[in-house]
Amino acid sequence: MFDVIVVGGGAAGFYAAINIAEAHPGASIAIFERGKTVLGKVKVSGGGRCNVTHAEFLPKELAKNYPRGEKELLGPFHQYMTGDVISFFEQRGVPLKIEEDGRIFPQSNSSQTIIDCFLVEAERLNIRILKNSQVKDFEHSQEEDVWKVVTANKAYFSQKIVLATGSSSKIWDKLKLLGHTISKPVPSLFTFNIQDKRLKGNQGISANAYVEIKESKVETKSAQPKLGLHAEGPVLITHWGLSGPAILKLSAWGALDLNKMGYVFKIIINWLPEYNLELLLAYFMEVKKQTPKKTILRTKAVNLPQRLWISFCRSSDISEGVTWADVSKATLHNFAEELTQGEYQVAGKSTFKEEFVTAGGVDLKEIDFKTYKSKLVPGLYFAGEILNIDAITGGFNFQNAWTSAYIAAQDVAASLAQR
Ligand SMILES: Cc1cc2nc3c(=O)[nH]c(=O)nc-3n(C[C@H](O)[C@H](O)[C@H](O)COP(=O)(O)OP(=O)(O)OC[C@H]3O[C@@H](n4cnc5c(N)ncnc54)[C@H](O)[C@@H]3O)c2cc1C
Repeated sequence: MFDVIVVGGGAAGFYAAINIAEAHPGASIAIFERGKTVLGKVKVSGGGRCNVTHAEFLPKELAKNYPRGEKELLGPFHQYMTGDVISFFEQRGVPLKIEEDGRIFPQSNSSQTIIDCFLVEAERLNIRILKNSQVKDFEHSQEEDVWKVVTANKAYFSQKIVLATGSSSKIWDKLKLLGHTISKPVPSLFTFNIQDKRLKGNQGISANAYVEIKESKVETKSAQPKLGLHAEGPVLITHWGLSGPAILKLSAWGALDLNKMGYVFKIIINWLPEYNLELLLAYFMEVKKQTPKKTILRTKAVNLPQRLWISFCRSSDISEGVTWADVSKATLHNFAEELTQGEYQVAGKSTFKEEFVTAGGVDLKEIDFKTYKSKLVPGLYFAGEILNIDAITGGFNFQNAWTSAYIAAQDVAASLAQR
């Protein structure tokens, strides 16, 4: 008989187990992991560097990074957030560093440092780790107030159970049988597939742009999603289309709608967000007046990577040798339109290798966010991605795992102390 069984040996499972053991020394705790290894996603996270959290220290601002969970996370973040996570790791000899864009990584630049930290802590705190132990079923006996946790070849018993199984459909199915609602799981944090001659040859270029999702090209069975989603930030041109923070943000905020649309939709890009069409055209007319003899291709009049400027000149029928004096207002209008209102057809999605996450999971209305306990099944705790919470890229998804695991751990420890 264990005091606590944590199901799932990922980020949330380890953080929960360690924090329970810290808050209730001597508790017998086991982590059940279905795989041969634990912390698999931590290992590959952040391109192998593990982006553990993000340098945002105001709960309200931090919560804004969660397309699903913003409202619910506000309370939990007041209890446990970024600064606490930094202290957790630094107290355990894992110094972190903040990068320019706010992402926080271990100074070692290696996710293995985080894994080693968890494994050392688990050993120090006598947490048992049972690998190759997929939990098939679990049930609570009201009379004895114990949980029975069943794997392929054995049944175990515990006083408390924490589910930290990430996006496991089998566990979600089991939770449905227990009365929980599961929001449909769909991918989030993906890049857009676009085949377009304007982007060809420009792979690797990144520019600050404003991107808006326009409309669906295919008819959807359900009502047309209300879109008009937009994001501003770096956009990276890749071999397959577009990536970068602005695109990933759109993929997260639009995760459900874009799924309904089969990932076929149009986007409008303003490559010069400081201008709109009218302003840019007025500016070009001024440049035409001031430098009539200069060739357009060679006098990049705006803040845009040179290769992109040339690409857009060509797609606007402005060829080599054409001077500002040579072009008509109509051509400059087309050119300004191309730069500020260019339309692109997205024809699918690709995985963003550095980070991806599943939107969907246990319905948030069914969770008590003061304890991360189920409101429907007494004594059942949740932590991490199993809940219908996910974030944009940047360390926020792990922050969700740490916060939920820590808060659940405090309540588990408190109730063990009362027994
Ligand atoms: C490639 C990649 C890179 C990422 N990089 C980052 C990043 O840098 N920063 C960031 O914030 N987020 C990142 N994420 C997202 C982040 O990894 C997840 O949000 C986080 O791992 C969720 O933690 P979790 O413990 O809830 O779930 P998981 O990490 O998925 O862990 C769940 C565990 O439960 C186990 N399990 C499932 N079912 C059972 C069962 N029935 N019995 C026993 N065990 C079971 C699974 O095998 C797994 O080990 C990345 C994701 C990916 C895929």
